[in-house]
Amino acid sequence: MNSAESAALILACKERGWTEAESGESADLVLLNTCSVRLTAEKRALGRIALYASLKKKQKKFTLVAAGCMAQRLGEKLKEKYPQVDYVMGTYARSLFPLILEAAEKGDKTFLDLTENAVFSFSSLHLEDGYFRSFVPIMHGCNNFCSYCIVPYVRGREVSRDPAQIAQEINHVGDRGVREITLLGQNVNSYFWEKDGTDFSRLLKLAAAEAEKSGVKWIRFLSANPKNFSSETIRVMAEHPVFCRHLHLPVQHGSDTVLKAMNRGYTVERYMELVSQIREAMPEITLSTDVLTGFPGETEDDLKKTLKLMEDVRFIYSYMYHFNPREGTKAFDLPGRIPEEVKRERLSRVIALQKKHTSELLKSRIGSRELVLVEGISRKNADELITRTEKDEMAVVPGPASMIGSFVRLTLSGLRGNTFHSKKIDEVVCAGS
Ligand code: SF4
Repeated sequence: MNSAESAALILACKERGWTEAESGESADLVLLNTCSVRLTAEKRALGRIALYASLKKKQKKFTLVAAGCMAQRLGEKLKEKYPQVDYVMGTYARSLFPLILEAAEKGDKTFLDLTENAVFSFSSLHLEDGYFRSFVPIMHGCNNFCSYCIVPYVRGREVSRDPAQIAQEINHVGDRGVREITLLGQNVNSYFWEKDGTDFSRLLKLAAAEAEKSGVKWIRFLSANPKNFSSETIRVMAEHPVFCRHLHLPVQHGSDTVLKAMNRGYTVERYMELVSQIREAMPEITLSTDVLTGFPGETEDDLKKTLKLMEDVRFIYSYMYHFNPREGTKAFDLPGRIPEEVKRERLSRVIALQKKHTSELLKSRIGSRELVLVEGISRKNADELITRTEKDEMAVVPGPASMIGSFVRLTLSGLRGNTFHSKKIDEVVCAGS
């Protein structure tokens, strides 16, 4: 979401004739689009703000803007700490960004009150120039209030985007050569457009039809909460091959007691039922997940249940982390905090098991012939291209940069770590534009 919003902000600058500076140090305007989801992301963002604040104090005049979730959360406190910050633009005030640009263009230092009239609105386009993949936000905010999560406090309640606007953006990016889109939202399954009753499954049908018209070949979506994942969504996905055969389905934990304390709104049984339905409808699909260990009150037995769930599902990969209390969330005050070393030890077991599963699953795929999208040049070898399968696996293959953005077929001949390698491109299916 942060990347998509950054792309929209860059577009707003370009539309007014601004160009990209060579470095932050030489810019007339520095905007830091912050993220609040993890404490580490916030710490990093604060470090960058401090850096630019001190640069501004010492030597240079430029407009400094703190935007995004952290700006929303800390508000004017940020300015109190760093008076060099000119504007604190929370997620709801983003639509007022052109006013900041206008003020910077005029050299106007009059303070703009960005909290006034701040209502959430979707940007019309989130595509950076020359890209063949694009995010398409469909909804914003979350009503779920998982007890450890800051998102509902910084992003607010769920707002769905007009399906006509979504269709327009898909068409627009498709016409500009985009081949893969990711429908984006904090909780995509909750998408609902009240005016005509379009829910997420209906929106997927619409997206599939628009993709077909516009040349978009693959559609992904993020993030899908297992709680709201409907059978109809599974049916629509299975019916339309344009939906990539990979799903990120964050489980967070394998114990019902912990899931309840997390306020996730589903049980292990329901999650496993969902996994079965998905695999029955799309046997070739890969699943990935998020796992959060060390939640307050978690016992050794709870941890074992998580490891069991991982064994039962066998995810292709997981984002694994241990609990860090976030002030302002319900879990912050929960009793039964787990000591740091225990959290770390439990997390290491989860990571070790995931590594084993990833390695076994990837090895079983060697020899298969795959359609992949060429994403760029490999960072390790300039003569190789980095590609991705629809199952969200990476593969490198020798080839020229001119292939970036193309769909090609290749054979997965071996593995280097978790990345496949292939000897050659067998066939160009759809050349990039
Ligand atoms: S579903 Fe839960 S974890 Fe996801 S954004 Fe909403 S509150 Fe946070």
